[in-house]
Parts: sequence; C-alpha cells; structure tokens
Amino acid sequence: MRWPSNHANTDGNIEELLAVPVDAVMDALVGAALPHSGGSFRLGISGVPGVGKSTFIEALGLHLVAQGLRVAVLAVDPSSSLSGGSILGDKTRMERLSTHERAFIRPSPASGTLGGVAEKTREAMCLCEAAGFDVVIVETVGVGQSEVAVAGMTDMFVLMQLPNAGDELQAIKKGVVELADLVLINKADLDEAAALRARAQITGALRWLGPHTHAASRVLQLSALKGTGLDEFWREVSDFRVQQAASGRLAERRRAQDEAWMWERIAAGLRQRFDQHPAIRAALPRMSAEVRGGALPASVAARRLLDLMN
Ligand code: GDP
Repeated sequence: MRWPSNHANTDGNIEELLAVPVDAVMDALVGAALPHSGGSFRLGISGVPGVGKSTFIEALGLHLVAQGLRVAVLAVDPSSSLSGGSILGDKTRMERLSTHERAFIRPSPASGTLGGVAEKTREAMCLCEAAGFDVVIVETVGVGQSEVAVAGMTDMFVLMQLPNAGDELQAIKKGVVELADLVLINKADLDEAAALRARAQITGALRWLGPHTHAASRVLQLSALKGTGLDEFWREVSDFRVQQAASGRLAERRRAQDEAWMWERIAAGLRQRFDQHPAIRAALPRMSAEVRGGALPASVAARRLLDLMN
C-alpha cells in the first residue's frame, strides 16, 4: 500500500506508522481498497426500534450464508453519534450470525456527527467489498436523517414497518416511504389480517405519492421471527438488482451517490473550517448578539463572517 507522500518514510517502522494521522491512514487504506470494491450488493434496512431489524437481518444473513454467500452487516446509528449510547445495541444482537465464518458484523462507530458516522460506514463498506463480501447490509434506526444517509449509500433501500396504521402514516408523513425501494411489513405472524390491511394501505399510499416514489416500490409482508417470507423477499431483491443493473440505473445511482457524497463532505468540511477559524470565533459572539438584538441584518452578519474565512 502506498502512504500519502508526506508519510512515505513509514515503511516497516511501527512508531512512525502510529504517528501517521488516522485520517491519512484511512485515506490510504480506502484508496487502496477502492479499485477492488463495488462488487457487493448494498442493501439498506431501516425501521423504528422494535420493528424487528436485528431479528430480520439475522434470519436473512443466515439464509444467505447457507447459500454460500458472504455477508457483512454495518450500522449507521444516530443515537451513538449523539450520546455515545446505541439504539442498535450492538453487542447482544445477531448472536448466531455473528459467529458464522462467512459473516461479519461491525458495531456502529461510537462518536461523531451523523455525517461522520455515515462516512465511517461508507469506508467500512468499501473495505468489506474489497474483502469479497457478496452482500453488505447497512442498517439504521428510523429516526431523523439517518435513513437519508443510508438510502444514499445503498443499491436498494428497504423500510420495515409494523402492521398498524399509526406507524404507516407516520412514515409517510416523514417522507421516508418515498426513499424506499421496498416496504416490508414485519410481524405478520401476530395478526395476518392487519398485515394484509397494512400492505394494501401502503401500496395505495405509494401509488398516491406518485412520481416522487420509485416506480418499482413494492410492499411485502413477512415474519422475521418465523422466517416466513424470506424467500420471497430475497427473490424480490434479486429481481430488483438484475433489473437495475440491466437498465443502467444501478451504475447511475452509484455515480450520483458518490457525487452527492462528495458535496456532503465538502459542506461538512467547510462548516468545520468555519467553526474552527480563529477570526470567526473571535467575531462570532458580538455578531450573534447584534443579530439577536436587531442591530445587524442576519444576511449581512453571515456575509461578513464568511468573508473572514478568506
Ligand atoms: P430492532 O430494534 O428493530 O432491531 O428489533 P428486534 O429485532 O430487536 O425485535 C424486537 C422484538 O420483536 C424482539 O422481541 C423480537 O423477538 C420481536 N420480533 C421481531 N420480529 C418478529 C416477528 O416477525 N414476529 C414476532 N411475533 N415478533 C418479532
């Protein structure tokens, strides 16, 4: 592996290697892995806590490793970025899958902004692909912006729902359904009739949302606990994948995601530089007070502060 040129003299010396900034190591590692990545299918899965994500991913993962596939599971957990705690509760989850030799489960990065956590997940995804995993599952909790981040890094985004109307309406209001390539109604074993009703309602809502949703959006029901509906789900995923690849939409989606991600990181980097800029930090309290007090228009204050970055 080639290190960035200013760290080129680190060959074989562990102390010098450890002195290399982590970002530079990651850049070099991801740069080396990139030409070998891109071969996995990237599957995003989202849903509120308790909907059955880990039960489902474990069942699906075991189903896939039994077919000889290698499966990696990554997570974008907004709770861990805010509080250091994890809604996804990594350690006790997916016990059977986590011990399988063809599976890899990575705990969520424990700190940073959502953008930072998502970036680490993208890097991990790149490394998993280079390591030859056939399917990379990226999981997130159905709160806040994390679904947007996961939909923006995967080939297919699946939203899990409970079979009751309250959840269904909530998700539609949040606009998350619009991101979904497929909606899964879990826990169908608890109340088959409610699951069927939810399926009909969500199918109708997707049609009603019209041009904003993916034309291919489908709704399936299953029981992650009993494992029923898994075959149908995987058939649906495989069909979607084949269609997307054949039509060129998969490649286009990935290109658009990469470009959007570049802009996302530029925006985050600019914001960080702004926040850390000494002249801006010095001027900010006074400017903020003037804006709050009505002495200075917000737009003028913003322009002056931005000018300090030059
Ligand atoms: P997560 O928070 O979304 O990861 O949800 P979990 O996978 O931890 O599941 C939450 C609870 O729902 C657990 O008690 C599971 O056993 C249960 N559960 C998950 N899937 C099903 C299902 O298909 N049917 C039933 N009856 N229970 C389920």
